[in-house]
Order: sequence, then structure tokens, then C-alpha cells
Amino acid sequence: MKSKNKVWILIFILTLTIGVFSFTKEKSVFAGETGKSISRKVLNESKISNTLYDKNDDNLGESYYRSDRVVQAAKIIMGFLVPVVILFTGFSAKLSNFSKSIGKNLFLSIGIYGIVYNLIDSLANLPLTYYAGYIQSHVFGFSHQSFNTWIRNYSINLLLNFVGIFLFLWIPYKLMKKSPKKWWIYTGIAIIPITLFMYLAQPVIIDPLFNKFKPLGNETIERSLVELTEKANIKDCTILQIDKSRDTSMINAYMTGIGKAKRIVLWDTAINKLNLRELSFVMAHEIGHYVLGHIKKLIFIQIIITFIVLYIISKVAPSIIKRYRGKFKFNKISNVASYPLAIIIINFCLLFIVPSANAYSCYMERQADTFAIEITRDNEAAVSAFHKLSKGGVVVPKPDIFYKMWKYDHPPIKERIDFFKIYKPWEEGRSLKYDKYIINPK
Ligand SMILES: [Zn+2]
Repeated sequence: MKSKNKVWILIFILTLTIGVFSFTKEKSVFAGETGKSISRKVLNESKISNTLYDKNDDNLGESYYRSDRVVQAAKIIMGFLVPVVILFTGFSAKLSNFSKSIGKNLFLSIGIYGIVYNLIDSLANLPLTYYAGYIQSHVFGFSHQSFNTWIRNYSINLLLNFVGIFLFLWIPYKLMKKSPKKWWIYTGIAIIPITLFMYLAQPVIIDPLFNKFKPLGNETIERSLVELTEKANIKDCTILQIDKSRDTSMINAYMTGIGKAKRIVLWDTAINKLNLRELSFVMAHEIGHYVLGHIKKLIFIQIIITFIVLYIISKVAPSIIKRYRGKFKFNKISNVASYPLAIIIINFCLLFIVPSANAYSCYMERQADTFAIEITRDNEAAVSAFHKLSKGGVVVPKPDIFYKMWKYDHPPIKERIDFFKIYKPWEEGRSLKYDKYIINPK
């Protein structure tokens, strides 16, 4: 590759650090409730959730930190190791030939390749996924989910992945054949409606596969929360509860969906453990994400990043294939055998995207916190709600900078509580930051 190209790609990657976001996360009060979007699947982002809660137990925090650092490093290494092995052993080319021999057309043969590749990748990662998703969260008390539920959710995720791969992986390869130079632009354009559809489908089709959703079922709470949405001038927002108490005792809430599918979801643990004032504050934070347009901004940034990553693949992959074609046993990016190479490039980009995304996410969390205080003016409820939120988990006493950048998509809970204690602009005669979003601020 020309060194000029390398410089451009480096500049592109660096611009990502200005502030980008995660492909996966709905905005939630505390820990990122991992969502699923097709773009994330296309971009193969690993799940990241910062389930770090305060507890005055440094030993527990320290041992969680030691365990989780290994887990995170292992996830990153596996993200490269599996595709590298499949690519450099020539297995990818063999799999491509095999799928061509049984798939009668491009759609079928690429679908078969994608499913077999993902099956191998999932099996190779199964021990790590099991440790990170089940063992670790039980050992440190984040979860009491039954093994049956875990395996059920894992299987549903796997199936959704297969469906996504089967339905969409053929698109870039078809476009590469048709337009070897501009396929990345067309692919990016094709991904836009898919992304929008996924944001619409997520709350109404996908989420209910994992949990049961139902109305709040308490008139007093419901009336009070609806009043809050009206105060923020939001109409037609569905408020639901989700049955998380069977899996965890932690408290959380999140906002998801766009248009008519938008909804605020409170974990039933929050309804059981928080009083009405605390619950209103949690709701206000979620409303903050909505009125400040965070979901729309995330979708927009997601689309931009998709284009950038596709561009990088289109520039970098052909020269790597040219250089290693002897080992890869194929010589064109338009051969689906190049899929592991695309995964490697995507995972490399994610090393830069995830920290930037987390920084931007923290910024949005601070905005939603500010809005929540301004609309409720209930600093006391904010502090007590977050004390309750912090129960039952661990806090890492001294995380290093890389761990923080990689994992923290929400500001540390202590920092947020400190902010809630002091932020009272109305008492100091200062104007509110978000009063234009609030009907009749006091
Ligand atoms: Zn939030």
C-alpha cells in the first residue's frame, strides 16, 4: 500500500477519537444494557458492559479487576486469533470453495460460508463467553441467572446472528463484484435502512425474545411518570417494566427505539427497590436521553462510522490479499474467503472506536444526569437512588487508563453522586442548561 494511503487511514482512525459511540448500547442509567443491531453484527463488535458497582470492599474490587482484565484481553486476542488462523491456514479459501459447491447462487453460497464461519468462531469463543457471561457474573454476585436461562439466551443470540449473516452478508460481496471501486459507498448506503429497521425492530421484536415486558401495573407510579414525560413535552412514549429480577438483583432502566417504537423500560428490580421520588429521577435521566436526541445522534454516528470502516476495508484489504495470496489461497476481496480479513480490520478499528465511543457515552450520561436534576430538582432522591443502584456490586479501586478507556461507558458512580449533591443552579440564581426542554420549569 502506498504510504500516502496509510497516512490517510491513520488520520481517519484518529478522527474517530474525537468522539464516537458504541454500536450497541441503548442509553441506560447505569450499565450498558447490550442491544443488538445489524450494523453491530456487520461490524462484529464485542459486547461491553460495565457492571461495576460501588461496594466498600477493595479486595473484591481488586480481584474482579484482575479477573476482568484477563477476560477483556482474552476477548481482544480471540477477536484477532480466530480470523487470523482461519485466513492464514487457507481454511477460509477451502470453506469458500465448499460453500460455492453446495450453494447454487451467490446468496446461498455466501450465506452458507457466513453461518459456518460464525459457528466456528462461536465455538472457539464459547469457553470465554461462558466464563465472562456466566461464571464471572455469578462469582462476583452480579447475577443469579439460571444456567438454563443463560444457555437459552446464548442460543437465541447465536440464531439471530446466523439470520443476520445469512440475510445480509451477500450484499457487500455482490456490490464488490459489480463495482470494485465504489462498493464501500453502496454497502454503506444499503446498511442505512437496515440500521433504521433494526432500531425499530429491537424493542418490539428482538428484546421480547429475551425478557417479558409488561405495563407498570401501579397507577400511582404510572401517573407520576406520565406527568414527568408531559413536563418534558414527550408524547406517546410507552413505559414498561421488564422481568429482570429472575436474573439479577441489580437496578437499571433504559430507553430504546425510535419513532412510535420508542419506550422507556424500567427493570422490575428498580420498581421494587426504589421509592417514587427515586424512580422519577431514574425516569428523568432516561427522558433526558430522549429529549436531548441521544438515540438519533447515536444512529447518525453509527452510520458515519460504518462508512469509515468500510472505506478502510476497501483500501487496506486488497493490498493485504495481494501480499499474502500464497497463504490465503485466494486473490480477490470479492471472494467471500476475505470475510475473516474484514473481521480483523474491523476489530482493529474497534480498538480505537470503543474508547472514543465510551468517552462520548460518558459525555451523554453527564448530559442526561444534568437534565434529570433540572427537571426534578430532587438532588436528595438522585443521591439515594444512586446509592441503591450501587448496592450489590464491586468497584475497582484503581483501574488503569486502558481499562477505563475500554470499559467505562458511564462515569464512575461516585463521581455522579458527587455531582448530584452539589448541582443546584436554581438556588444560585444561575440559568438551567436545559430549561428549553422543560415545560414550566419552577
Ligand atoms: Zn443514561
